[in-house]
Amino acid sequence: MAALMNPKWNGQFSCFDLVAKTDTCSRSVVQVRDIEIGGNDFVVMAGPCAVESESQILQTAEAVAEAGAQILRGGAYKPRSSPYAFQGLGVEGLKLLKKAREATGLAIVTEAMSEEDVDVIAEYTDIVQVGTRSMENFALLEALGGCGRPVLLKRGMTATLEELLRSAQVIAMAGNSQIILCERGIRTFETATRNTLDIAAVPVLKTVSHLPVIVDPSHAAGVRSLVPVLSRAAAVVGADGLIMEVHPQPEKALSDGNQSLTFVEFRRMMDDLQPYLDLQHDSRQLRPQLLAIGGAD
Ligand code: PEP
Ligand code: MN
Repeated sequence: MAALMNPKWNGQFSCFDLVAKTDTCSRSVVQVRDIEIGGNDFVVMAGPCAVESESQILQTAEAVAEAGAQILRGGAYKPRSSPYAFQGLGVEGLKLLKKAREATGLAIVTEAMSEEDVDVIAEYTDIVQVGTRSMENFALLEALGGCGRPVLLKRGMTATLEELLRSAQVIAMAGNSQIILCERGIRTFETATRNTLDIAAVPVLKTVSHLPVIVDPSHAAGVRSLVPVLSRAAAVVGADGLIMEVHPQPEKALSDGNQSLTFVEFRRMMDDLQPYLDLQHDSRQLRPQLLAIGGAD
């Protein structure tokens, strides 16, 4: 893996001193309750695009926990492409997520769209998500600096890795170094998939930054049939985990049903992932040494 180091990247990213890899900090681990993200484990976050009802979120939480997920996702404040689409349940959705955590022990990740909502969201959630459309909402990023919760920072759909790391640096400069980066697909000329999963972003980010990196195969693909294979790809290139959409009845989902897995599909995806995680097991343990900065070209 040291061969990944490209001298150009060092100069390109080293200005983001709080998030760039250094001789003294090659890997940071984000601790969420008893879960370590960026450590030796591969962490799966799963749940519906949006919290829709108590039974929907509780059923999903139980199903994903049983299949091995450690963190429950679900939007209560939804950034939608259309102003006519479901906008989320707001605080009611946060309360339902809390209920699901109490019922299953899963940690929670949910999105904040505005700096005005950060305090209430941080009160309920374990991780605050910044969505692709908000990656450069600097007022939000600065507010997250003092929120006391780890931040899951998604790559903007038209953002370069440099811009992603710049946003991470803004959060860190505002006082919060608990940041997880997320590759969720970028907009390209390709239209067969919703976005183009930039799989190379994972090893590049892991090489230049000490932050954990996860992949969202659901928003990258836009179709559920591609989610398992993209998840395996993420595991093999060294991602620290996944965030993906799962719904009890995807055909009835209020948002992103096409890319949401059913419970059965999710369980199968988790089972099929295992051999790939085993394959990566040794390199996950060795990664801090292997990726020491200043490696060969
Ligand atoms: C989501 O996680 O449901 C979401 C809206 O993701 P993104 O910001 O990556 O589109
Ligand atoms: Mn979604």
